[in-house]
Amino acid sequence: MKIAVLAVQGAFVEHERMLGQLGIESFEIRQKNDLRQDFDGLILPGGESTVMGKLVRELGLFEPLKEKIAGGLPVLGTCAGLILLAEKLSNDANVYFGTLPVTVKRNAYGRQLGSFYTNAEVRGIGEIPMAFIRAPYIESVGSGAEVIAEVDGNIVGVRYGRQIGVSFHPEVTDSLRLHRYFVELAAAG
Ligand code: GLN
Repeated sequence: MKIAVLAVQGAFVEHERMLGQLGIESFEIRQKNDLRQDFDGLILPGGESTVMGKLVRELGLFEPLKEKIAGGLPVLGTCAGLILLAEKLSNDANVYFGTLPVTVKRNAYGRQLGSFYTNAEVRGIGEIPMAFIRAPYIESVGSGAEVIAEVDGNIVGVRYGRQIGVSFHPEVTDSLRLHRYFVELAAAG
């Protein structure tokens, strides 16, 4: 079992630390050569989606990663990672991988509520701590996408096949439960 973490920008180290705590081997994807090895799952971290999306294209990672995700590779996108997966952004003309049938609003909580911390239920996992940092939320989901988490009436987590997208950062909390859930999904192949 080996999980790849996209490491071109953003909070990738925190995800690696969580995987390490679970005893799961991980490695960083920084350039095309890193894709030569096999892996069982991919984490797209939080950060700045515009920068990450641009770097992914410039580094030649876009097509191979999109192909793997569309082909069923288990993927967990957190915050900006969710934005990279979304089929549509309601307040941004960019689309990145576009493999997850959801419409996402960037920086959806505005400036004042830009960052906050809460506990909420994730379907199939239970209640976990969630850190929201200039977070997006999911405005609508397409067919086949299952809502797995809501906070204050807004959708903050979705699962579609082997793709999981959450608008919060589980990796800056002390709960390993979402990562464990993802690793189990990846192990199920
Ligand atoms: N605001 C960022 C964006 O739109 C996402 C924030 C995050 O990943 N913490 O890309």
